[in-house]
Amino acid sequence: MDILDRCRSFDGARMAIDAGIYPFYLAFDDADAAVARLDGREIVMCGSNNYLGLTRDPRVVGAAREALDRYGTSCTGSRLLNGNLRLHEELEAELADFAGKEAALVFPTGYSANLGAISALAGSGDVILVDKDVHASLLDATQLTRASIKPFRHNDIADLRRRLAQVPGGAGRLVVVDGVYSMGGDLCPLPEIVEACGDFGARLLVDDAHGAGVLGDGRGTAAHFDLLDRVDILTLTFSKAFASIGGAVLGDADVIHYLRHHARSEIFSASMTPASTAAALAAVRVLRAEPWRARIPLQHAASVSTQLRNHGFATQPTPSAILPVPTGEVIQTGLAWRRLLDLGVYVNAVVPPAGSPRLRTSYTAAHTVQHLSHVVSAFATLRDEGWLDLPETA
Ligand code: PMP
Repeated sequence: MDILDRCRSFDGARMAIDAGIYPFYLAFDDADAAVARLDGREIVMCGSNNYLGLTRDPRVVGAAREALDRYGTSCTGSRLLNGNLRLHEELEAELADFAGKEAALVFPTGYSANLGAISALAGSGDVILVDKDVHASLLDATQLTRASIKPFRHNDIADLRRRLAQVPGGAGRLVVVDGVYSMGGDLCPLPEIVEACGDFGARLLVDDAHGAGVLGDGRGTAAHFDLLDRVDILTLTFSKAFASIGGAVLGDADVIHYLRHHARSEIFSASMTPASTAAALAAVRVLRAEPWRARIPLQHAASVSTQLRNHGFATQPTPSAILPVPTGEVIQTGLAWRRLLDLGVYVNAVVPPAGSPRLRTSYTAAHTVQHLSHVVSAFATLRDEGWLDLPETA
């Protein structure tokens, strides 16, 4: 058996590509928080995670440019050895202060932050209880440990409690959830989760990739619920609201000190580039100075949800900047996605295994009322033309 045979026989995407409804790896001429250019055409970007619209903010761009000029393009090494700058530590201090945690450790990406944290913290004899809908990086992280993995039903506290009750006495327990679920836009029921963790002596890790910078005036899902001190480990990414690339783990100083010496994805990987680090730091500072920015994506998502409901869509009120529109079948999702693009709107098509078929829309501080109207009327056209077979709301 040649292991490359599976590549040669892979035809998973072929049909969609041939039919012109393949929604992935679109090469934009340019893409920003609210507008993108595709094949020379301007379209409304409704699938960006650039929640605060800061990737072109002169303060963020200026900080990145200054770091590039001062430090060059790369640190060419891991933090542990030659790749650590004062700038990385400045970002960690700023972030910890902002998020209300003792300490932070930055990683090359949010993905590697999750891998590093979980694989360093959980080991043989421990039990990880993980929500079934968490981000792939958290699921992959659990596979790197020798811990026993117990998935529980999405946001189902009774199921979590049942599984916690089955954990043998003496075993370490780690509960892993997302703050905001990236495909559904729903929040974890944090108050009930911290209560369950408290009752069963479990530690809690929350990945707040889509909550940080947006909820709780930008301080994230735990701040939104006023439960910052009840979350043991917080992970986040700079590749969304914070207009850069990189990730971080936040927690007590001794936990972060331990991770500095045990998180393999941080130790054995080069550090964030100076420009990315400076951009993330500038974005955090802009947000701290202008917390009102964080509320705009939420208001936009709520407004579009209401407008779509008025057009007969069954969209639910969303507590985040993400609003999913269910589509039905995979093929229908591709067709609807393509028609929306022709109507000048880019959204993210979601198909299994990422989630049940849907069009995932997301909103940023850069969207205007005009952008939102364009999105709503494109969806209304989609529905009128019969591309979506959605139930009417009552
Ligand atoms: N966690 C969640 C919930 C995410 O949505 C993502 C990015 N899609 C990540 C982690 C990984 O972040 P990064 O892009 O920084 O690797």
